[in-house]
Formats: sequence, C-alpha cells, structure tokens
Amino acid sequence: MIIVMKPKASEEAIKNIIQIIEKNGLQSHLSRGDEVTIIGVVGDKTKLVNQSLELAPEVDKIVPVTESYKLANKKFHPQSSTILVDNVSIGPDTFTIMAGPCAIESEEQLVSTAKAIKASGATMLRGGAYKPRTSPYAFQGLEEEGLKYMQTAKQETGLRTICEVTSLPALETAIKYVDMLQIGARNMQNFSLLKEVGRSKLPVLLKRGLAATIDEWLNAAEYIISEGNPNVVLCERGIRTFETATRNTLDISAIPVIHSKSHLPILVDPSHATGVRNYVEPLSKCAVAAGADGLMIEVHPNPPCALSDGPQSLTFEQFDTLCEDIRPYVQLAKRSF
Ligand code: PEP
Ligand code: MN
Repeated sequence: MIIVMKPKASEEAIKNIIQIIEKNGLQSHLSRGDEVTIIGVVGDKTKLVNQSLELAPEVDKIVPVTESYKLANKKFHPQSSTILVDNVSIGPDTFTIMAGPCAIESEEQLVSTAKAIKASGATMLRGGAYKPRTSPYAFQGLEEEGLKYMQTAKQETGLRTICEVTSLPALETAIKYVDMLQIGARNMQNFSLLKEVGRSKLPVLLKRGLAATIDEWLNAAEYIISEGNPNVVLCERGIRTFETATRNTLDISAIPVIHSKSHLPILVDPSHATGVRNYVEPLSKCAVAAGADGLMIEVHPNPPCALSDGPQSLTFEQFDTLCEDIRPYVQLAKRSF
C-alpha cells in the first residue's frame, strides 16, 4: 500500500509515519514530489491494522497496491526515474543510444566500432563477452579477454560500457570492467541471477523475456530493486509470436504500458526484435514516437563476417544515417542525444 501525505505535510509527520511502519517490521520507501510526498509500504500490512494510520492528521489517504511488484510500481514513485550510468542519464529528458557488436570479437573490432558509434551520437558501447547462444556449437564469447577490450574501448573513447552477464562467475568478472550490466531475455526469470545483480552496485538493463508478460517483466525488475539496487532500466526487445517474417515481434505498446505502470525508463532494441537490418530504422522511429527513453542497436564493422547476429547488425554508415534520421523525431519528443 501507499500512504499519500497531505500537500505540504511536515517533516515530523512524515518521520512519524515511517517510524510506525518500521517499528512494525515493514519497509518504507519515501517518494517526494513537488507537492505531495508518498510513503510506500512493503511487507505484511496486517501488522499495521491497529495503527489507524489513515487517521493521522497529515495523512491524506491510503491506497492499496494490488500489483505484486511494489518498488517498480508507478504508484510507489509517481515521477519517472532517471538512471545514471556515470555521466550518462537514462530517463524522461534524454534519449540514450547504446550501440555496438552483438559479440566482442577482437580489440580492433570493438575499438573501431566504439569510435564510429561515438561520432554518430551514441553514448554507450554494448558488446557481449558471454553469449547465450541457441546452439552450444555457436561462438560463446571471449569472456574476460573481451571485457579487457571493452575497457580499452572506454579509455579510447570515453563511452560508458554495458555487457550481458549470464551467470554468477560472469557477473563477478564483468563488474571489474563495465559500467552497466545486462540481463538478457533468456535470463529474465533467472531469479538467483536477478538477486545477484540486485546486490551489485552497477545499473542494470533488464531485457524482456522471449515470452514474458509485462507483469512478469516488472516482477523481475522488482527482484533486482528489492535487493537494494534501484538502478534498473527496462529493454523491450521483441516477443515471440506466430509471425516468422521477423525474428520476434516488437511490442511497441509495451512502451506506453510500462510508462503507465512503472517509473523505470525503457529502451527499445529493434535489432533483436526484428533480426533484419532494414527494419531497424523504421522501428527506431516508432520507438521514439511511442515514448522510449533510448535505443540499443547492434553495429558491426563488417556484418557479413560477424560471429553472431550479422543479419541484424548495421554498418557504421547505416548507423550514422539512422542517428541522423531519428534526430528530428527525438527533437519532436522534446528529448536530445
Ligand atoms: C544481446 O543483446 O546480445 C542479446 C542476446 O539479446 P537478447 O537477450 O534480447 O536476445
Ligand atoms: Mn545479438
């Protein structure tokens, strides 16, 4: 439930309510708006039945939160959150572009990609060092060696970096090298991994599972936040449907739905959503128009030779054109990159 304080409620009244909540063994989460302060309550509410909180003088009302996710819920935190990855903001006022290869293949490949995407306007470099591949015989990633190239690319360009982690050992290694962790679609409900990234200090990009509902996705975010890491960004990357013309089906409606249910930012990954290079640009424009907070795009110096996801990867030139072509749309959305 949430306790909505009266406009301009005193600090003392707010402190009082928080004390009552915590004394009864529940957790409180404070969200201060310009006018109204909201105190979210997590835990067994029956412990508060005798407290008559609704009668406290500066409490306006008490609203139940019926959804099982609380900390990710917009009711707990009505303002949209801005997540910081060092100096890169992801939130309602900016448009953040992350780009890079599906898999890190060599230092040259990664550093040249980093330089190219930076020149086009991206502020974060993506690259997989641990690849969750459908076939066990497909390229599985360079692991720590790849992460070292990530660090070099960051030093040479100043871009912030993100890499997917697929296991606890991968997480323990990746935190030494990158600025943001990615939980991929296949691990969206790997609850022990979600808890581990929740205990880490790095911001997390949580991709939507291949067949996950929005409710399941927000509950996955709740796992991370409830372990003490509030820095979660969602990423819609297409869901599995009966359609085979594209690799997945991009659920554009997820963007306004997420914005109505959660305060967390949401990015769109049109590369994995479609699996087809030519569809990346039109869907990027749709993502901007629907209110996305940014994009994640696969870019490769030579897509036909890519070790993974070549058909959906853009060349440097194509990525540059994409950035130029979406700029007016981003401006229309009153954002910038
Ligand atoms: C990726 O970003 O490289 C990836 C594997 O994406 P997803 O988890 O969305 O399939
Ligand atoms: Mn990929």
